[in-house]
Amino acid sequence: MVRINPEKAAAKSKLKTSDLQAALAVQKAAFKRTPYPAWSIRKARLEKLRDVIRAHEDDIKNAISEDFGNRSLLETDFADIVSSYNEIADQLKHGEKWMSRRKKKVELAQMGASAEIIPQPLGVVGVIVPWNYPLFLAASPMIGAMGAGNSVMVKMSEYTPKFSALFKKMMDETFSPEEVFVATGGVDVAQAFSGLAFDHLLFTGSTSVAKHVAKAAAENLVPCTLELGGKSPVIVAGDANIDDIIPQIALGKMMNAGQTCIAPDYALMPQAKINAFSDAMIKRAEEMYPTFAGNEQYTSVIADAHYARLQSLLEDAENKGATIRVAGNDDKQQLAKERRIPLTVVTGVNEDMKIMQEEIFGPLLPVMASETLDDQIGYVQDHARPLALYLFTKDAATKDRVLLETHAGGVSTNDTMWHISQSELPFGGVGPSGMGAYQGEKGFETFSHMKSVFHQSTGGIRHAIKGKLMAGIHAPYD
Ligand code: NAD
Repeated sequence: MVRINPEKAAAKSKLKTSDLQAALAVQKAAFKRTPYPAWSIRKARLEKLRDVIRAHEDDIKNAISEDFGNRSLLETDFADIVSSYNEIADQLKHGEKWMSRRKKKVELAQMGASAEIIPQPLGVVGVIVPWNYPLFLAASPMIGAMGAGNSVMVKMSEYTPKFSALFKKMMDETFSPEEVFVATGGVDVAQAFSGLAFDHLLFTGSTSVAKHVAKAAAENLVPCTLELGGKSPVIVAGDANIDDIIPQIALGKMMNAGQTCIAPDYALMPQAKINAFSDAMIKRAEEMYPTFAGNEQYTSVIADAHYARLQSLLEDAENKGATIRVAGNDDKQQLAKERRIPLTVVTGVNEDMKIMQEEIFGPLLPVMASETLDDQIGYVQDHARPLALYLFTKDAATKDRVLLETHAGGVSTNDTMWHISQSELPFGGVGPSGMGAYQGEKGFETFSHMKSVFHQSTGGIRHAIKGKLMAGIHAPYD
């Protein structure tokens, strides 16, 4: 198994701040020459992006898998590659319409005049990418930014050096530096990158790093979209049938070995349901993955440091009295060698345990007793606003209460994660889980300036109408 040291991998990048500034200057100059790329130009860029991904599907899957130690090829196919195609197809289908000028009504006193909104490209959009879905989280903002007529500079994660190098090569061979520039490297490059005077910066990553990014962007008043993480709860209401809800939660928690920003982080349910839930989750995990060690369909934890962090969450919970159940019967040493962690259900948890305090980002599922809907809503609202919330209930009134009385970036009811793949739903967090949103039409608008324009009429009618309406109001308006 390849052991990646992100620091060493990052050290290979020789990019200096001056190189990044020069790349930005090239894109700014190109934008000055072509401030409003026609749809034909935008369409061609989107098609080129789709085609280069298509031509490198196997390389992409292999590179990401090497970076993870093992990344299920099926997961890369579904969550990185097909998701990117879907986003491109949506932009190609609607982009020209989204570009169109939108006529608006004028106030009565300005009769004869007209108003409109013109979506205008911002210029150069910066994108900072995390490691967990490295293709999709680079491509998805690029697609919105390109559809809106911008050029893009992308900073890849140091945790995915093989894929980052491949993606850079793919982009360099497909686009001119005036259209797309890809930076690889470590935190030093990321810091210099986030300090550039972009026209917009989209950061996907952790809440703690986002604070540095937002500060750096503030130096130039660069508007930011922050796509962050957090502890996304699962609320299992009293009326939910355990057998019905297990497959959805198991998939959400085990996909990419739980290393998904919208993975269910923890579950709240009445005490009386917990044993049956825990048994059924373990059984489901063992059905999905007869073995975890050596199973190419089950993704590894990205790096030794993250593996150790997840083990220490379990140790802390166990030392404080939690019960831990690990799916499967694999050899522990072999699992550790492969950095694979089977689904692990943790019961008897409380708020003093780190596992209930930090974003888990791995296949550990703490289950906390919470008896009533009031308790469940109260718990969610007493904690940082999460990126996603999952509610399992058949009761319409319960749904409405949770939807209206809790805050979360997005929600799926009676399922997990699917709200992210709906092309008409914007994706983003709220409070510490993020700022702003993108994807689909919302992405187009995030990367556009929606310019308000008022056109005064120049004909005689203007003076005639205005004279009548304004008569007696006030001379300075004339
Ligand atoms: P991270 O915050 O450690 O790193 C993200 C990116 O920021 C990397 O490219 C890194 O090089 C860069 N970076 C690191 N330090 C920086 C600094 N000081 N200044 C500027 N940039 C810096 O996140 P990660 O470990 O790669 O990803 C996991 C986190 O991302 C989790 O919290 C997860 O929930 C979140 N996430 C959110 C979404 C979403 O769409 N909301 C999607 C995926 C992951």
